[in-house]
Parts: sequence; C-alpha cells; structure tokens
Amino acid sequence: MNTTESFTMSTLKLGLVYCSLIFNVLFVYKYLHGSHDLVDQKWSKSAAGEAEAVAAVSCSGHGRAYVDGIISGDGKPVCECNACFTGLDCSQSVPGCILDADSGNPIYLEPYWMQHAASTAIVLSGWHRMGYEYDDGSLISKELHSEIFKLHDIVKNVNTTGRYLIFGAGSTQLLGAAVHSLSLESSQPAKVVASVPYYPVYKSQTELLDSTMYKFMGDTSLQNKSDSSTNFIEFVTSPNNPDGQLKKAVLEGSNKIHDLAYYWPHYSPIVAPVDEDIAIFTLSKLTGHAGSRFGWALIKDKAVYERMVKYMDLNTYGVARETQLRALKLLQHVVQGRGNDLFEFGYGTMKRRWELLSKTLEASQRFSVQHLSSQYCTFLDSYRTPSPAFAWIKCEQEDDEECSKVVLGEAKVIGRAGSLFGAGNGYVRISLTDSQDHFNNLLNRMKKLVSQERTQSGTRLHFDTTANKTWDVEYQNMGVDQEMQGSLDGKTSVAVHLQAAITFAAT
Ligand code: PMP
Repeated sequence: MNTTESFTMSTLKLGLVYCSLIFNVLFVYKYLHGSHDLVDQKWSKSAAGEAEAVAAVSCSGHGRAYVDGIISGDGKPVCECNACFTGLDCSQSVPGCILDADSGNPIYLEPYWMQHAASTAIVLSGWHRMGYEYDDGSLISKELHSEIFKLHDIVKNVNTTGRYLIFGAGSTQLLGAAVHSLSLESSQPAKVVASVPYYPVYKSQTELLDSTMYKFMGDTSLQNKSDSSTNFIEFVTSPNNPDGQLKKAVLEGSNKIHDLAYYWPHYSPIVAPVDEDIAIFTLSKLTGHAGSRFGWALIKDKAVYERMVKYMDLNTYGVARETQLRALKLLQHVVQGRGNDLFEFGYGTMKRRWELLSKTLEASQRFSVQHLSSQYCTFLDSYRTPSPAFAWIKCEQEDDEECSKVVLGEAKVIGRAGSLFGAGNGYVRISLTDSQDHFNNLLNRMKKLVSQERTQSGTRLHFDTTANKTWDVEYQNMGVDQEMQGSLDGKTSVAVHLQAAITFAAT
C-alpha cells in the first residue's frame, strides 16, 4: 500500500467510526424517546383512532356522531341530528317541526371546540384516579383550582382574594348547598327569595328539598326590605336569567347568593369585579360544557364554606375526577389564550343573534322583547352592545294571554312560560344559545310570525290615526263588515279584526 492508498484507507475507517457513532447515538435516542411513543401508543392508539374515526363521520353539518352514541347495524356510529334535521346523515330538514327553545343548551360553542380539537382533547386511561380522594386527601384538583383563579384574574369578573373554593356537580348542586349553609346562620327558618323574573330552579329546588330550615317565599318585592329579624336568603342573578339585566340585591341585611352563571364576556359587559360573600359560576355557560356538570363557588366566610363542604361530602362526595380533568384541559386552553379566542367567538355569536332577533321583534306590535343597553366592558376595554343568552318576550295584546301558547301555536316554538319565572304568562323565554341551525330556524319563524301581523287572516291590527294623519285604508275583498269600516272614522286609535289581508298607507 502506498502512502496515498494508506491515507485514503484511514480516512474511510475514520468516516465509518463516525457514522457508526452517530448511528448509535441516534439509535439510543430513538430507543429512549421513541420507545415512550411506542408504549403510549400501545394503549391510547386505538382509543385515539376511534375518536378520530367518529369525528370524521359526516352528518352534513347538521349533526354529529359520538364515541358513546348508538351504533348502526353495519357497525357505523349513528349521526345525532340538530333540531329539525333528520336522515342517516342529517341532510333532510323537517320544515314544520316543533322547535324546542326552552332549554339553555349552550351548543352555539360547539364549533369553537371543533376548531380547537387538538388542544382540548383528553385521554383517559382505565386506571385514571380510581380512588375517592386526590393524593392530599382532598376532592379538588389543585391544578384546576389554580386555573380557575388565573381565569378570574384575567377576566376580572370577581374578587378572588382570600376566597375559599368549592366544586359542585354543576352550579345547580352549589345553589342547594349554599341555601343549606346559609339557613344554618339562624335558628329561625330562613326565607328564600329572588326578584321576579327569577331562574325557576331557585323555587323548584328549594321546594323539592322541603326543609324545615328554609322555605321559598317568592319575589323580593313582597318582603319587608328592612326586616332585620328574618333570615332572608336572597338569590341575586346577574346578568339575570331570563332577561339579561345586571342585578343588585334588594333586601337590606339579607344573606345573599350571587349566581354569576352569565357574568362572562360572551353575555355581559364586565362592569366591575363582584365582591360578594358567595359567588357561583358554572362551566355550562363559560365553555358550554353543560353535560360535564361542573360548577364552582367562591366563598368569603370560612364557616359558610365548611358547611357547604359538609353538604357536598354527604351529597355526592365531590365532583367526578373525569369531569375535573376535562374542565382542567378546557380552562388551560382558555387561560393560555387569555380568554381572547373564546370570548371573541362567544360574544360575536351572541351579539349577532341578538341583533337579528331584536331587530325582527322591533317591527312587531304584538311582541316586545327586553331592552338592554350598550355598556362599557372592562375586559374588552370598550363599549359593547348587548348579547344576552335569552329573549324575554312579552305578548302585548290582551287576547294573547299565554305567550308561550301563542309562540307554540303559531310558530311551533317551545319557550318557557313566564309564570315559571314568577312573572305572568304574558311572557315567554326563548333560548338563543343552541346550534346555528336551531337559531336560523328560530329567527325565520319569528320573522314569519311578525310579518303575518299585517297580513294574516284574523290578526288584530292597530291603526294609529294620531298626528293629523288620515288613513287611506284599502280593504281587499275580505268581508270586513261596514260597521268595522265605519269604526275607523273619527277615532285616534282603533283595533280591528280582519278576515284577510289589507293594505294601508298614511296620506
Ligand atoms: N344559574 C343560572 C342562572 C342558570 O341559568 C343555570 C343554567 N340554566 C344554572 C344556574 C345551572 O347551571 P348548571 O347546573 O348547568 O351549572
């Protein structure tokens, strides 16, 4: 071997040694890190595959399939269709169907979570937190506790300083726990009250529990405001369900439960941090995960908190670990984005819906809807227009005694009757928080109902003949009797029942 050949050989050998070294390092790295992937995927892969496969089922944009949904005969997941859609792939609409707008189902947020599927999916192993308690003996995830505080610090909707935190199976459970706890403040039975129109569960839950320690006594206005000898427990719902108004307590010296389910930028301006003894929130309205049944309460007083904890212990012994894991993942996502994405989506959707519905009802003489004004929001740092979760509709005409029946009979829309809120049946609550399909359908029906006011047979019309106007009323072949025609003359305002359409114009 000459010198050149020997040099080439040693360079080649060195190269091989380097290659082998790099290869070994890569192999070891892959073994150490890659093996984790392999181990993880051994048990999560098929579950993830199942979830992805179900998510990919096409339900024509009018429904969706779920991992725990019904499986058809051919082994495929069955689509669950949005209201008034049907068919195997939910592609057929059902024009005359009854539209249920009673429930405050927050499905409008579903597209948001579909857009953020990757960052909010969770994997549950078969052995995930099987015990009754967390490691520290508590029933509350420390991480979730901290995420909730972080979120309130971002939104600034409640004062968290020095507050005790308790979780409940939805805020519904916490409402009962709070009433129980506050009723023990006095040896006399407490009077549970709320301002009309109030969220119906305050009454129904209190009455169901039928305790000797508290009774539901209805509207705050029926009570003596300055009666200091009675233990009043006052529910203050702000923004209010059904009418979206920001509310304050009415009774002096009462024990208060502040239900802040809707005090989030989707539905309300954040005007100031609430600084009250008991503030109750729910995931149902914040992220829309009503089915996860998760709520929380911030409590100032230790004794009140401890009595609520005892109630929870004896009632359900805490909130499911699966629910806490899901809530944690969702809130981590919200906190990471400082709430901006979620609130932008939530507020944008609810605001558009309100604009469309309230504008439609503005044109009506027969129906009116609550008035809400624009207000400054500290979270958005700007004035914001209203975006309530519900329309609180009033039937203005005497004949329409039961507004929920009018809306059901003429628009095939199920609303919640005003009497359930302690108000008259002249009111009905219509939910605006369901899917986009649901809202589109609702809006079309309300538009039709309003447009029929002027043309529909048998509709009562009002002619305002004030302001020196005379009305040139043209009857279109409708058998309107002469007496009725005559009654239009010389009156300032008349109402007539017509048999068919008329046209009219100011002259
Ligand atoms: N409070 C108010 C004012 C509500 O509207 C609701 C839900 N409709 C609740 C409490 C209960 O919410 P959840 O039990 O789903 O947390």
